Amino acid sequence: MSLVCFPFKTEHVPTVLRNVHVAAEHPAVSLVLLVGACRNACFNAVVSAIDAVNASPTPFAVPVVVQQQQRVGALRPGKGDGMNSALDYFLSAHLVHANALSAPLQRIHFYDADISSFDASWITKAEAGAALGYDVVRHYFPRSSTDAQVTWQITKVGFAMLWPRTTLPWVRQPLGGELCLSRTAAEVLVGDARCRRQSDWGVDTVYTFVCAQKGLSLLEVYVPQGKMHALYGGLGDLKTMVCECFAAVQSLRGEAVRAAAAVHQIDPAGAAPRDIRQKVAYDVEKSLGLLRANWSARQETLLRLFGEDVAAPMLRARNWPEYGFMTERVWVAAYQVCLREFVRGDDDWRELLFRLWVARVLNYTMRDVVRGYEYAMQANTEMVMKLLVQGDEAR
Ligand code: GDP
Repeated sequence: MSLVCFPFKTEHVPTVLRNVHVAAEHPAVSLVLLVGACRNACFNAVVSAIDAVNASPTPFAVPVVVQQQQRVGALRPGKGDGMNSALDYFLSAHLVHANALSAPLQRIHFYDADISSFDASWITKAEAGAALGYDVVRHYFPRSSTDAQVTWQITKVGFAMLWPRTTLPWVRQPLGGELCLSRTAAEVLVGDARCRRQSDWGVDTVYTFVCAQKGLSLLEVYVPQGKMHALYGGLGDLKTMVCECFAAVQSLRGEAVRAAAAVHQIDPAGAAPRDIRQKVAYDVEKSLGLLRANWSARQETLLRLFGEDVAAPMLRARNWPEYGFMTERVWVAAYQVCLREFVRGDDDWRELLFRLWVARVLNYTMRDVVRGYEYAMQANTEMVMKLLVQGDEAR
């Protein structure tokens, strides 16, 4: 008996409703939970749409609950509060819905509410993995070579640098919002102060980290059709996510993780479909302008903490969008400075970190992505592999 949760903020309501139908009709699902960020127009429209189905001749077969997220954490109230609220609801749902649920729920699934390619197979695959005894089942799928640049440049680089001998750098999509947790795994996350605190976009990083540190077994299942969802415009849309995901890695940097303690299996990937191989995930022209925007005198001073190979071209980028300097090697060195010096609540630091990342993504796009899909994906993997070797040699 499982609960499916869709965290949502502002989404296309018919897509959300379609996904709720998919979940509510699945034989393994006993309860569907929609956790809204706030009572905005989308929230009200979702409530009305669910009520209308329940008042119709064909109501949902299982309870469908729409709730506003609780304030659980200590950082910006965001998706982390949504996920943590859902875990709380899951653990006591059998008490609230005693008529519909005869026993405590065994699994909780999370899916982004905006996935237009969502179908029953996502749930079935996760259930099959969980039935094999895995504590955590994560979905992964083919992605555009220009997508997932928070994952590659921030999370994977950080995991490889800080915990090279663990399973962490090998998690395919460590920021993925599609996953299934056993009751045991949910209890571990609810009992962990670091997870509870992480109310912002950093929640996925911290959940992934804590699952590995606590030795929970992980299966990653492949979804060949990929995740069709609302994409961003310029890289500017990702500023908050970049900073919060980086700050989450930074907050964990002193933590120890036992080498390869957890079981980790990965369902092999297939070839990426043509539309995904050809997709350009962000607006390059719009993103070039970001290198010149929002500079301050203090940011120029902060740049002195970096080497000349970063500081000089970044200063020139105030006038002309330079990014050729931000090779993997330079990015890794800049990342290390940020790990030591970045201050989460400091706007100048946020602007600077974000702009360094923009330069890195543009460099990767113009140097690796232009050479083709396979080349680009290989470049991402090799960047992480090199870090693993270096991290290990440095021990
Ligand atoms: P992306 O998949 O990384 O592009 O991120 P999205 O913007 O699609 O967000 C992932 C999911 O989290 C979507 O279903 C969003 O509606 C939802 N979401 C985003 N922010 C919040 C929040 O503050 N609270 C809740 N409950 N859900 C959120």
